[in-house]
Order: sequence, then C-alpha cells, then structure tokens
Amino acid sequence: MQEIIWKIIFMILLFTGGLIRKPHMKKYKKTEKTKSKKTSREKFLCFLAAIGMMLVPIIYVLTPWLNSFNMNLPDWARWTGIIGYGFGLILFWWVHKTLGKNWSPILEIRKNHKLVTQGPYKYIRHPMYTQMWIGVVGYWLISSNWIVGIVAFLTWSILYFIRLPEEEKLMIEEFGQEYKDYMKKTKRIVPGIC
Ligand code: SAH
Repeated sequence: MQEIIWKIIFMILLFTGGLIRKPHMKKYKKTEKTKSKKTSREKFLCFLAAIGMMLVPIIYVLTPWLNSFNMNLPDWARWTGIIGYGFGLILFWWVHKTLGKNWSPILEIRKNHKLVTQGPYKYIRHPMYTQMWIGVVGYWLISSNWIVGIVAFLTWSILYFIRLPEEEKLMIEEFGQEYKDYMKKTKRIVPGIC
C-alpha cells in the first residue's frame, strides 16, 4: 500500500481520539476543581507529551521531513498497529464514559469527585494509561518510522513514570482507605499482572 494511505489512516485515528475527548473537555472546563496539582512540572510533562504524541506525528503525516527514518515494516505489522490502535480507541471511549465528571487532563480533584471502580476500573486502576501504551506502540507500527515511534514512546514514558505515583498519592489523600482497599484489589495497567 502507498505511504500516503498509511498516513491518511494514521491521521484519521489520531483525529478520532481527539473527537472522543472533545465533549469531556468541554464539560471539564466548566466544572469547579477542589484540588489541583497543576504545577509547572505537570504542565511541562503534558507539553512534552503533546510534542511527542501530536506534533511529531503531524509532522510525519504532513511533511516529507521524517521520511529518511522510515523502517519499511511489512504491511501485516502496520495492520497490527491499526487494529491495536483501534482497540485502544474503544478503551479510550469506555474510560471517558466511565470516568465521566471525574475525568481531568491533569491531576485534579473535581467538585463532588467520586472514586470510580466500575467498568474498566474494576480490572485495573489506570485503563487510560493502558490505552496510551497501546497507542504509542501503534504509532510506531502504523507510521513504520523510527522517530515517530521513539519520540512518542519516550515522551509518554516520562509522563507516565513521573505522574503515576503523584496520581496515586492524590487519590489516597482524597479517598484514604477506600483507595488503599481498591489498590489491593487491582493492578495498574494490565489485569492480574502489573
Ligand atoms: N489514571 C486514570 C485516569 C486518568 S485521568 C486512568 O488511566 O484511567 C486523570 C484524572 O483521573 C486524575 O486527575 C484523577 O483525579 C482521576 N482519577 C484517576 N483514577 C480515578 C478513579 N479510580 N476514580 C475517580 N477519579 C480518578
């Protein structure tokens, strides 16, 4: 298949993620927050992830600048990426629907915040981050490009490993024993494993 077709498919998948998030972002902006960890570090990490997971993929799609880093992966590998990424998008939609008014793009507690333990949260504590891991591997496979894959993987890893302990600390501060009990029953990103 021609490179341009892969690029179009990649763009559509990226755009679909944005569309799933859009209505939740609108509601999020209107709600009051009672606790926020909007530190300059958190803002910088989000900025870094936006470069790695949005800007670089867009540069790959819209310009020939990264073409010399193409890996020429076989079509089956790229299709695997598309199927994986598609599955990740379903999870992304489910997570947003389940978290509802409790979702925020940064570490925050919203007014009347409830601890969510149903839907995907019944099996793991961070299904949205599971989707992000699937997503960055998907980026690499679909684009078949070293730079797109490595930059997305690195920027996401930095955000994940710094943010996760902070997020769990925030949840313990807010929900105390209820969250500690929930931690005993669930793993972080892969059911029953880790
Ligand atoms: N880490 C989760 C959520 C990411 S969105 C996931 O991967 O699915 C980040 C926000 O979700 C945080 O600001 C936190 O306040 C909120 N959050 C995380 N886990 C939650 C839970 N189980 N119930 C309610 N809110 C949660």
